[in-house]
Amino acid sequence: MKILYVCTEIYPLLKTGGLADVGAALPAALRAAGCHVRLLLPAFPSIAAGVRADAPALRLPVEGGPDVLRTLQPPPMLVRGHVIESGQPVYLLDAPALYQREGGPYQDAAGQDWSDNAARFALLGWAAAALGQGADPHWQPDVVHAHDWHAGLAPLYQKLLAGAGRITPSVFTVHNLAYQGLFAASSCAELGVPESLFTINGAEYHGQLSFMKAGLQFADAITTVSPRYAQEIMTPEQGCGLDGVLRDRRDRVSGILNGVDYELWNPATDPLLNAHFDGKRMSGKARVKRALQRLLGLEERPDALLFAAVTRLSEQKGLHLVPAMLPELIDRGGQLVILGSGDAGIEAALREALACHPGQAALRTGYNEDLAHRIIAAADVLLVPSRYEPCGLTQLYGLRYGTLPLVHAVGGLADTVTDCSLEALDEGRASGFAFHEFSANGLLGAMRRAFALRRRPSDWSAVQRRAMQQRFDWQEPAQAYRALYQTLLALTAAPLRF
Ligand code: ADP
Repeated sequence: MKILYVCTEIYPLLKTGGLADVGAALPAALRAAGCHVRLLLPAFPSIAAGVRADAPALRLPVEGGPDVLRTLQPPPMLVRGHVIESGQPVYLLDAPALYQREGGPYQDAAGQDWSDNAARFALLGWAAAALGQGADPHWQPDVVHAHDWHAGLAPLYQKLLAGAGRITPSVFTVHNLAYQGLFAASSCAELGVPESLFTINGAEYHGQLSFMKAGLQFADAITTVSPRYAQEIMTPEQGCGLDGVLRDRRDRVSGILNGVDYELWNPATDPLLNAHFDGKRMSGKARVKRALQRLLGLEERPDALLFAAVTRLSEQKGLHLVPAMLPELIDRGGQLVILGSGDAGIEAALREALACHPGQAALRTGYNEDLAHRIIAAADVLLVPSRYEPCGLTQLYGLRYGTLPLVHAVGGLADTVTDCSLEALDEGRASGFAFHEFSANGLLGAMRRAFALRRRPSDWSAVQRRAMQQRFDWQEPAQAYRALYQTLLALTAAPLRF
């Protein structure tokens, strides 16, 4: 079975969040499950630098597609090659005027969305659709699998390109429903989105063009990255205005939990750590903790309960609740480390709060993969107080490193962490701390449970051992995606409904 996997990030070449971790690990797991996977990625500079071309580039069909196909010089091309480090086959969408620039993949260095994002990501959708409908004479996928709003126009363009002909089935995976790719209605003309598809039952969203809604409306199957989030996004509270669309298509929606690449995230072998440990020999964790305390200027107290967060600083992640809990955390003898990048306002508030506790709290900003591993390995408790969380990966990394996750019980966090209630402790199911009320009080309650458990060393060790034994391998999710692809192949792709 041949799968075209369409996304914008791949670890380690380009990463702004979990999408990149999944973009590296899921295709590899699908390959192990017997699928032939090719990635389609924009040729952002760091991605292009990690890919070697191995066949002549292809021209894209122009008729009906976005205007940039006609106006850009040189014209956009599809470079066939492979990721040098992993050997993963890829198509690079090469359009230097759109993708080769300083700054981030979606925003400039000042944090503003690129003003031509509609054209940049419409072209990605168009290239996916073209490959899906046979643009490469040597390789046509059986399924087009598009990820997040950036690739949301792929299923729409596929239907346009196919006309009355056969449409290659498509899967659209939502990694985060809050980022929707909304653009002015006037962009439809330049993107080749016909009026007949810019309707309430198509890609129109309150007068704007929504790439996310296009993906949800036109894909043959919709998945998201945890079973709980799949349910949540069908409710008005969590549906980001698209819950009605999702409810209408509920028979096409499913949740498949993300996995972890345990080659990269393993405390017994992690090359980024100064010492190693596993469930049977935990002394290395204390050495990693001491090294981190020293590195970050914290008092080297082995018994200080060390809380940590490694996160984007966005409203979603709930870090604005942390300043209110910090005084009590410190009073109780705890310490706090935060590694985060993103929103300047959240960063300033954290900086101010943590600065009141020199030697006990430290903030590091920016994106730092090495430090992320060291913090997750060193801490005792990993904070993930997200307002909503499609899956979440850091809590899974925390479990593996015996760093008990403290989470808001939503989405993938609820699916993967079991609170240390007395029943769960008694039944040997507890793996962390979960709170239900999204407030500073909710967070404080869970924090107090963490201190309470720490005063019961044998219970703490039992929960830690259990956490470290849990496995969220990619094998099972890859089988679930494969089964979904097979179901789609068995059906005739839905005809154009407009
Ligand atoms: P999201 O994709 O919403 O950001 P996830 O938990 O799914 O959240 O994935 C986040 C990924 O990004 C994890 O691999 C995490 O370790 C990493 N990460 C987040 N912030 C940073 C940072 N400042 N430095 C290094 N890695 C980070």
